[in-house]
Amino acid sequence: MAERVGMLIDTSTCIGCKACGVACKEWNELPMAPEDKVEFKGLSYDNQGHLSDTNWRHVKFIEQFNEDRSDSRWLFLSDSCKHCQQAGCMEVCPTNAIIRTEFDTVFIDHDTCIGCRYCVTGCPFGVIQVSDIKGTAQKCTLCYDRLQVGEQPACAQACPTDCIEFGEVDSLMKLAEGREKLLKSQGYDNVRIYGKSDILGGLNVFYLLLDKPDVYGLPENPQLPQKNMMKSYTFSIAGMVATGVLALLAFRSRRMSHKADADQDQDKAV
Ligand code: SF4
Ligand code: SF4
Ligand code: SF4
Repeated sequence: MAERVGMLIDTSTCIGCKACGVACKEWNELPMAPEDKVEFKGLSYDNQGHLSDTNWRHVKFIEQFNEDRSDSRWLFLSDSCKHCQQAGCMEVCPTNAIIRTEFDTVFIDHDTCIGCRYCVTGCPFGVIQVSDIKGTAQKCTLCYDRLQVGEQPACAQACPTDCIEFGEVDSLMKLAEGREKLLKSQGYDNVRIYGKSDILGGLNVFYLLLDKPDVYGLPENPQLPQKNMMKSYTFSIAGMVATGVLALLAFRSRRMSHKADADQDQDKAV
């Protein structure tokens, strides 16, 4: 097995240029939105809106102001599939079309995907979308074809500030810890790493954030789908048991009233 590779997205060095998104589209031959669907979303300079079947990378723009709006800052986050260690999408796929590669990344095999959309609900980050045209689930592959020939992913190569660092995950984590320490010493009190082992066993694509995860639209504590489903199962089973008990009680009381009627009829006949 090859080494476990991934990416560190250091949001402190991102300038929101979107070169990563363009490189992704170009390398993976992903179309732009149809002309009649291009619109201003009113979300700062973000007109992609979210990850989708044709947007495997999406740069988020977050504008922050102080109370009297005399000061402001922009935060950017270049988002994609996180290639999770515990991948909800893989767990729920009924045809095993989502596989873990020799690089420890998460890859959708389009020949076995049946477009059932289970993985769409299985991913806690809203990464996957099923293409209406191709009929299969779509997401970032971490440029699997490039990894196979020893190249880094297209987005990492295109990034002009090295905000996207590609490499072996343990080394990237050490790099992130060093940068976190440096930023804290410079007064960035809320800086943190998102994607250590506490988040779904570790994210191969992880982030150095300047603020809390929810500021960037990332869940604080993402869950695997079966954990949520366990709750639903418990409720369903409890509901079924309660319905059964009520039905039994109703049946018993009906039988008792029939028996009382029959006894009365018998008494009258005597
Ligand atoms: S981010 Fe979502 S789509 Fe990507 S590996 Fe994790 S669960 Fe799967
Ligand atoms: S790793 Fe490749 S597929 Fe994934 S976002 Fe970057 S360019 Fe796109
Ligand atoms: S190419 Fe790099 S700097 Fe530009 S938006 Fe993407 S991650 Fe940020």
